[in-house]
Amino acid sequence: MHHGIQKLLLLGAGHAHLHVLASLARQRPADLDVTLLTPYPHQTYSGMTPGFVAGHYTEDEGRIALEPLVRAAGVRWVQGRCIGIDASARTVQVSAAQGMQGVPASLGYHVLSIDTGATLDRTRLETDMPGAATHALAIRPIEAFTALWPQVMTMARRQPVSLAVVGAGAGGVELVFAAEQAIRRNGQQGASFTLVTGGPEVLAGYSAGVQRRVLNQLKRRGITVLREACTGISEGEVHLGNGARLACDVPLLAIGTHAPAWLQGSGLALSEGGHVLVNACQQSTSHPEVFAAGDVSTRADLPHARSGVYAVRAGPPLAHNLLAAHKHQPLKPHMPPRHTLNLISCGTGHAIATYGPLHAEGAWAWWWKNRIDQAFVTRYRPS
Ligand SMILES: Cc1cc2nc3c(=O)[nH]c(=O)nc-3n(C[C@H](O)[C@H](O)[C@H](O)COP(=O)(O)OP(=O)(O)OC[C@H]3O[C@@H](n4cnc5c(N)ncnc54)[C@H](O)[C@@H]3O)c2cc1C
Repeated sequence: MHHGIQKLLLLGAGHAHLHVLASLARQRPADLDVTLLTPYPHQTYSGMTPGFVAGHYTEDEGRIALEPLVRAAGVRWVQGRCIGIDASARTVQVSAAQGMQGVPASLGYHVLSIDTGATLDRTRLETDMPGAATHALAIRPIEAFTALWPQVMTMARRQPVSLAVVGAGAGGVELVFAAEQAIRRNGQQGASFTLVTGGPEVLAGYSAGVQRRVLNQLKRRGITVLREACTGISEGEVHLGNGARLACDVPLLAIGTHAPAWLQGSGLALSEGGHVLVNACQQSTSHPEVFAAGDVSTRADLPHARSGVYAVRAGPPLAHNLLAAHKHQPLKPHMPPRHTLNLISCGTGHAIATYGPLHAEGAWAWWWKNRIDQAFVTRYRPS
């Protein structure tokens, strides 16, 4: 049995932690002191970001305000970001969010839960793609991207822009469709749109049938696909692996993400890619008092894709296990689904649905996605 107040520290307000906060609002033991460390006053819901780019949602419609959730849960909120963990000393180093005063330099914990998502490591980016960190607009952090997107639209209203999305995973594909729709509707005529895949086919990892559907839609919308690596970006140009240069006013980066660099040296067991290695109970394989969920983690027993759907599913078992760990009760394993429903939006009004080997498309799939996304953000808004 433990004695006295125990400290639970939540890093990041990712999908799983939204559920943890909502569940703490329903039930928080009196001897549990909870702190949330996260930099932004909102959690931006990435599933609706392409809809924001397309002009279908306002910025506010696609984000969840944290203050009401934190207040209802009786949680202390430190507005800053984690810049390091010392797992042996059970402390987290903190950097204050822009403009915040009085933020502590470090926070201690008895139980730590990490849901900070994946990041785009700008040092690694500069090595792999020189010039990209300076000249391209990256989709992550999403908050910076959504703040800057209106400037792209301002430029597109003034001149016919050439826009290229680098990265042809689901995020990149949705982004190029959304940008094309918004700019063709509201920008100058004569704009051009390119998707640079990095080499492989569009949506590598998806079935040939899904790829065919996406390629058909891209062709229909006049979006050029280049199956080339992007080797660098300079003012007005995207450099390609074959030596060619693509003239480009707006290079958007939607390439794969990295594990946060601050996990290195934490003492926590990490996967090959540097993510927190967790067991079936979302618990660090090296430090049982540390839990992790979402894109920042890798399941040692059952590695799966990094996506919002998996991050959402990890929320209820994580909430249960954090309380169980506090009460020294048995933890419950979490079984991630073998297949998930993916709804890939091709701009407002049309989407491609995939589930395991099955796939289909139509206006109904977009309607379904819109419903699921709206239901997710509404769930975490004060009623
Ligand atoms: C354009 C786009 C569209 C997408 N659409 C879909 C989709 O439709 N379906 C789907 O399943 N997936 C989608 N994804 C993938 C999805 O965004 C991620 O898999 C998902 O966000 C991961 O959730 P998470 O909870 O791990 O982290 P996140 O949602 O990234 O949340 C991380 C949280 O941690 C905070 N944080 C970050 N760094 C720190 C730090 N150092 N200290 C403290 N807090 C920190 C952040 O501010 C944020 O609150 C999309 C991705 C993109 C780019």
